[in-house]
Amino acid sequence: MEFALNKEQKDIVKAAREFAAKEFTDVAQDFDRNESFDSTLWKKACELGFVGVFIDEKYEGIGYGHLEQCLIAEEFFAVDPGIGMAILFSCFGAELLDLFGSEDQKRTVLPGLVSGQVRLAMAIMESESGVDIGSLETTAANRGDYWEINGKKSFVTGGDVADYICVLTSTGPEDSLPERGLSFLMVPADTPGLSTRRLRGKLGIRAAGAAELSFSSVRVPASNLIGKPGEGFDAVSRFFGRIYPTVAAMAVGTARAAMEEALSYTNKRHAFGVPISSFRATQGKLMEMATKIRAARNLYYEAAWSVDNGIEDSALSAMARRYAGEVGVRCADEALQMHGGYGYIDEYKVQRIYRDAKVLEIWEGVREMERHMIGRAVGWKEERKS
Ligand SMILES: Cc1cc2nc3c(=O)[nH]c(=O)nc-3n(C[C@H](O)[C@H](O)[C@H](O)COP(=O)(O)OP(=O)(O)OC[C@H]3O[C@@H](n4cnc5c(N)ncnc54)[C@H](O)[C@@H]3O)c2cc1C
Repeated sequence: MEFALNKEQKDIVKAAREFAAKEFTDVAQDFDRNESFDSTLWKKACELGFVGVFIDEKYEGIGYGHLEQCLIAEEFFAVDPGIGMAILFSCFGAELLDLFGSEDQKRTVLPGLVSGQVRLAMAIMESESGVDIGSLETTAANRGDYWEINGKKSFVTGGDVADYICVLTSTGPEDSLPERGLSFLMVPADTPGLSTRRLRGKLGIRAAGAAELSFSSVRVPASNLIGKPGEGFDAVSRFFGRIYPTVAAMAVGTARAAMEEALSYTNKRHAFGVPISSFRATQGKLMEMATKIRAARNLYYEAAWSVDNGIEDSALSAMARRYAGEVGVRCADEALQMHGGYGYIDEYKVQRIYRDAKVLEIWEGVREMERHMIGRAVGWKEERKS
């Protein structure tokens, strides 16, 4: 069993760390305060080969694995989760196309994601259905040579800037089980009938835009169906299995950012004549953080390694994402606590990390959904509503 990263992977870590430190540090606070982002940063990250590294060489990608994508995600999030998200979520959905997309869809979208010409977004959740995707209300009607989409999607990360959106729709028949009645469609953002509203006032990761999308008789060619009709439910679950290791790596990066702030502050700040970090209680908390970060990293390493080796273990991916999400949130909480009153004002970076972290337990399905994914694997019984 080999735990060490190889030379190439170590170089990726170093390059991602240096890029993020150089490019994110001075602008992060402004982006957060103004809920803004400068897309030249995304382009630069693409030019340097940090985006979509897992995309196959056949589609002009670098052809690395998901582990390499995770390593970059950890480094970017360790400097600033908001900017890391704005950059890396530009190819959110590439894994879905990789798994289910047609050759034509892959050739249309994937090369541009790598080169920085195209951004992709995923529209799964809706304001009414939430994680219960079986009851979503956005419909796509089969009209022969085209699909007609009607409905609304909420919280679409990058939905305000994306060129293409993978939209989960209900394609029926109406009385079918969700397992058979959902389908993904690829929708170009400039399709008539599609309107976008940027959501403002997010608690954290404010550099990354989120949008509400409305579909009013939006028509896309029949060939824009991703996979087969009715394959959407399975696609969501396999898609999450692919991306959860990266989401876990993002959480580990956030936890690291929190720990670095806590260490730096408690080494400098004195109480009762000594640095706060010399108190046993503080050391115990820092020790816990370091241990949990290491454990969470090992989990995402294994989950990403499994994906890269063709092992579909959605429970492992869910465990990695769930545990790392908790570690991110708890570390941010402890780090802010160690800053005392100063942690509560936005002059200190820890306040931003604290706000950024909470989403780690919310997005990509709430913790309860992961419980189901893990539960199915460990074998407890679940009752379904009839
Ligand atoms: C910043 C951000 C970015 C996002 N980006 C995207 C995106 O790009 N694409 C996309 O499709 N979605 C995106 N989302 C949506 C996100 O995935 C959903 O918010 C999330 O899945 C939870 O859905 P919900 O908010 O509707 O919560 P609900 O489903 O309403 O759940 C609310 C709460 O109810 C409880 N609950 C729900 N189900 C159960 C259950 N089975 N058992 C026990 N308790 C339960 C939980 O406490 C849960 O937190 C984003 C969200 C945020 C905040």
